[in-house]
Amino acid sequence: MGRWDHARIAGVSLGALALCLTPVNHVHASVSAQVALTPLYKEYADTNEVPWALLAAIDRYAELTKSKTDHEAAPYYGYNFQPGTWSGVANPNLDDVNPASIHMFAGFGEDADGDLLALPWDEADRIAALAKWLSCETELDDDDEVAVWNLFRDPVAMERIFAFEKIFETFGMNATSHCFPIAKQYNFTVKHTFGAGRSWGGRRVHEGVDIFASYGTPVLACSYGFVEMEGWNRFGGWRIGIRDTSNLYYYYAHLSSFSKGLHQGDLVVPGQVIGYVGSTGYGPPGTAGKFPPHLHFGIYKDTGLHEWAFSPSGLLNQWVRQKQKIIQTPVKSTKEDED
Ligand SMILES: [Zn+2]
Repeated sequence: MGRWDHARIAGVSLGALALCLTPVNHVHASVSAQVALTPLYKEYADTNEVPWALLAAIDRYAELTKSKTDHEAAPYYGYNFQPGTWSGVANPNLDDVNPASIHMFAGFGEDADGDLLALPWDEADRIAALAKWLSCETELDDDDEVAVWNLFRDPVAMERIFAFEKIFETFGMNATSHCFPIAKQYNFTVKHTFGAGRSWGGRRVHEGVDIFASYGTPVLACSYGFVEMEGWNRFGGWRIGIRDTSNLYYYYAHLSSFSKGLHQGDLVVPGQVIGYVGSTGYGPPGTAGKFPPHLHFGIYKDTGLHEWAFSPSGLLNQWVRQKQKIIQTPVKSTKEDED
């Protein structure tokens, strides 16, 4: 058994366990299995001169948005090549695992671990092939973005993958801690009203919980992530949307103001002040005071095809018991934006 078989087996058993857990736990299970692959991303990124965090980000996004059918067809972690890309398009054997004939047909399948087989389900072979493919693509266009576009052909995938890359690059793959979204030294009351009816804005249900607190109480980022949305919405007032590398979207609404210097695209860490409790919303920009001040907090899960809200109560109950470290300074990404 090679040293990487360990990681693969861990992934498989976590996958089986996830069947009896909620979707969130499933995400966390596969995410923790991916951390074990970090040395492989780094090794094959180095040999192919591509960014390791981009390889990890492609794998993460592919895993989180994989359909049930794709999962059954290829029950292993991350990005899976089409058979023709692995074996070579003209190769009569689309399931070819012989490195010599794969290379003859210009396939991308690799034997990275030296077992004389190029196996799409072997983590080393698969990640080495992905790195080689990325290196070839970026050589053609001198552009990461075109390469990633060719893998997913989806603008949402592009946005998420490059954001994941920035987060992995800046914080590593082990940055998974969380924080309760209100500074706990202030008074607050959580109303667990997920799914209740709403009176304003037509027929809709309450897609979150309300945490009542005084005007100006600091609102904190509850995960590592990036600011996907910041601005006005007639329901949410001044609101912020933060996405993490599990493709969960945290929605913070009715703020009185945003933290100074925080902008769309910025990275955040758990405990970082992102804004302050207010009562904005239910009208045109600037409307406030139509209800008592509170933070509306929602979590949405995105699987690529569907996005839905789930009750954040379980997570909030867990986070409220944890120690808080409040961070005032905005985080600087180590990867510079090229635009
Ligand atoms: Zn609410």
